[in-house]
Amino acid sequence: MAIGIDLGVKTLAVMADSAKEIREVANPRHLDTALKQLRHASRTVSRRQGPDRRMGHKPSKRWEKANAARNRVHHRVANLRADALHKLTTSIAAEYGTVVVEDLNVAGMLRNRRLARRIADAGFGEIRRQLEYKTRQRHATRLVVADRWYPSSKTCSECGAVKAKLPLHVRTYICDACGLVIDRDENAALNLAALAAAAVTGTGVAGDQDTAPAASKPRGADRKTRATRPGRTARTGRAGGATLPHQWQTETRDRPQAEAFTLWRRDGPSGPQCPEC
Ligand SMILES: [Zn+2]
Repeated sequence: MAIGIDLGVKTLAVMADSAKEIREVANPRHLDTALKQLRHASRTVSRRQGPDRRMGHKPSKRWEKANAARNRVHHRVANLRADALHKLTTSIAAEYGTVVVEDLNVAGMLRNRRLARRIADAGFGEIRRQLEYKTRQRHATRLVVADRWYPSSKTCSECGAVKAKLPLHVRTYICDACGLVIDRDENAALNLAALAAAAVTGTGVAGDQDTAPAASKPRGADRKTRATRPGRTARTGRAGGATLPHQWQTETRDRPQAEAFTLWRRDGPSGPQCPEC
């Protein structure tokens, strides 16, 4: 049995299995609920006499106590999040033979100010990491990572037609070719589950394992040059007042996806096409 997982912010995960059954996991949003507690705790901390390194003041006992209380809230959020994610990924890895996830650009999404906190709280990157090692531990299970440019949301899960555009606020997928009306995330999860079937039966659209690392990623998005200079050079540059601020911002955090299993490529004519269009 295969499962496709579409990660999101509103619902943490929408999952579709090969029998087209849909399962949803709500996003617990632990940080959101704890933010009020955190604000309160932080305000208490800031009213206490804290440490001052320049003046050499030690923090007061009351500051230390308040600060410890604030740290406890942070730790609780982290524990709740870790617990929920582990339960989710363990059950997925135990139940299914093939798990398909999107290759999300988590580092890039974290750079989006509006989404960063939500995405960090949801733990997208952590879900992927856990699935990777948990599927590796269970030899009966494997993880398939769909190509970053595979249009899982824009493809019709019924007839395979691909929409040119589907803005994020459009939550319902309506197929122009076959008239399918389906929830956006369910559609994406179904497409991912279908990719697993293609990989199992060997009718995969593209990407043999050997050619994938070199030939995929047509836009070369994972091959961006690292612009970070080695520490010493950067420092001398700064001393001369010549370092440009953008040198510090252009580092790509994308790691090469060595074991990623690419199933879909953008080069060909353009992936699965609807017979009607
Ligand atoms: Zn369709």
